[in-house]
Amino acid sequence: MNRQENLDQLQDKIKIWDIAVIGGGSSGLGVALDAISRGLSVVLFDKADFAKGTSSRSTKLLHGGVRYLAQGDVGLVFEALKERGKLLKNAPHLAHDQPFIIPIFTWKDRLMYSVGLKMYDWMAGRLSLGKSEFISKEETLKRIPGLKSKGLYGGVVYHDGQFDDARLALNLAQSADEAGTCVLNYVSVNSLVKDEAGKITGLHVSDKLSKKKYKINAKMVVNATGVFADKILQMDDPTAPRMIQPSQGIHLVLDLDFLGGKDALMIPKTRDGRVLFAVPWHGKLVVGTTDTLREKPKLEPEALQKEIDFVLETAAGYLARKPTREDVRSVFAGLRPLARPKEGSTKTKEISRSHKVILSESGLVTLTGGKWTTFRKMGEDTVEYFTKVTGEKLRDSKSLDMKIHGATSRVPEGHWGIYGFDAKPIQELTKENKSWEAKLHPDFPNIAAEVIWAVREEMAMTIEDVLARRIRMLFLDAQAAIDAAPTVAKLMAEEMKHDETWIASELADFNKTASKYLIKK
Ligand SMILES: Cc1cc2nc3c(=O)[nH]c(=O)nc-3n(C[C@H](O)[C@H](O)[C@H](O)COP(=O)(O)OP(=O)(O)OC[C@H]3O[C@@H](n4cnc5c(N)ncnc54)[C@H](O)[C@@H]3O)c2cc1C
Repeated sequence: MNRQENLDQLQDKIKIWDIAVIGGGSSGLGVALDAISRGLSVVLFDKADFAKGTSSRSTKLLHGGVRYLAQGDVGLVFEALKERGKLLKNAPHLAHDQPFIIPIFTWKDRLMYSVGLKMYDWMAGRLSLGKSEFISKEETLKRIPGLKSKGLYGGVVYHDGQFDDARLALNLAQSADEAGTCVLNYVSVNSLVKDEAGKITGLHVSDKLSKKKYKINAKMVVNATGVFADKILQMDDPTAPRMIQPSQGIHLVLDLDFLGGKDALMIPKTRDGRVLFAVPWHGKLVVGTTDTLREKPKLEPEALQKEIDFVLETAAGYLARKPTREDVRSVFAGLRPLARPKEGSTKTKEISRSHKVILSESGLVTLTGGKWTTFRKMGEDTVEYFTKVTGEKLRDSKSLDMKIHGATSRVPEGHWGIYGFDAKPIQELTKENKSWEAKLHPDFPNIAAEVIWAVREEMAMTIEDVLARRIRMLFLDAQAAIDAAPTVAKLMAEEMKHDETWIASELADFNKTASKYLIKK
């Protein structure tokens, strides 16, 4: 992806794009993917980096949702299981089968979870990732040595998918770019352009790096801005009532030996009635999540002390070694869009996990809710509105079987796996410069060549783009990321021809953000 080449396309004042997408998270990228599968021309803007919002802060699961099954939302579970299965085939370098174990303490729970998960298997049909089964107490402790043994009766094993959320977003942007989509990070949508009849005909956008402004024309505009959806709805109609109530979920990252195996732990009901996961990911353990109402949408939400305490206390209830604040390598928070309560009511309601598409009078199409797992179907359902908005015919969607950038049947070993077919060209960069073989941090396998690649091919513009979303070091170990930042800054500055002032200001920005991922001891 070449950012400058894509920016240059915005100079064309006559071009009319079929679809302009606001938002480069899973929702917006799903829309772009589906639109290109139907031969439409697409331009996509994110005011920050791809997946800077909620889409890099998920639990990283591709799941039908065992919880939604318990709630009787069968349609959603069917849909999500199909998408899960397809994504494992379309992006095998990023998504894989992850066994989960639910610890069982009573005979009644054994029966309930065994039956429920058999149904989950059956619903996945041919796309099932593996059979669920009850295992004995001994087997459970063998597979999760870090689990508390007191009162344990056994475990129920089931399978779901796991993935790298920010990298999937990036690979989707690359797939779209390769198919002719003009994808741009750090370009903010400032206002909507309308004709005399009040119909939207385009967007005013600005490049946040050069401060240059552009006007683009589009037949259909999609608002895929997650918790920021109200801001775009209010650009359309300043009197529009607020629709979204952000709700925060945090994750703590611990060393893998707190569980001690390859299996993930799933606690179906915590003190506040939520699900708690502890999932191995990139050599660490991701534990979460919470559900805390927040007043305002934020790109960089911060975990609250009470949320940190809650996750630590809940995990301690199940783990033989109690995790403490000292054990936390990183903490990250994300915001889900809940439906704001109506005037006079205090109750919030989660926007159904099955997404919603709203068509405004002006022709603005807003995609909201849903989850990462179903991003493609969400995109398909949104693009279906094209005929309604423009009166033009639409070809059938082909996104269900589209391979995603990087997809290969021979997934490379170790940390190179997530690069898929890009791994080799990255390794070959070291022939251009031997010093790019050097590691960025002694505790991580990533090397300097990955930074060069991120700048040349993956539209990385800042240190944070590299350390948070191209390489996930900030999410895995915030202190390690802070330590690696000067090396990354120097490599980027050389490659992008920036000076010492850029390095100093970038490092100051990165350290300020990264400090939010550190826990005060
Ligand atoms: C704690 C937590 C855990 C989760 N775990 C899972 C999970 O394990 N599996 C799963 O399937 N789902 C999960 N989800 C749900 C999933 O993460 C979200 O559904 C998904 O990431 C939402 O993506 P989005 O594109 O709608 O929003 P976002 O990712 O927030 O993207 C919106 C984008 O819009 C951009 N934007 C905003 N305003 C403008 C503007 N004016 N101009 C240009 N760009 C703009 C922002 O910069 C942002 O990047 C989880 C959610 C949370 C909160």
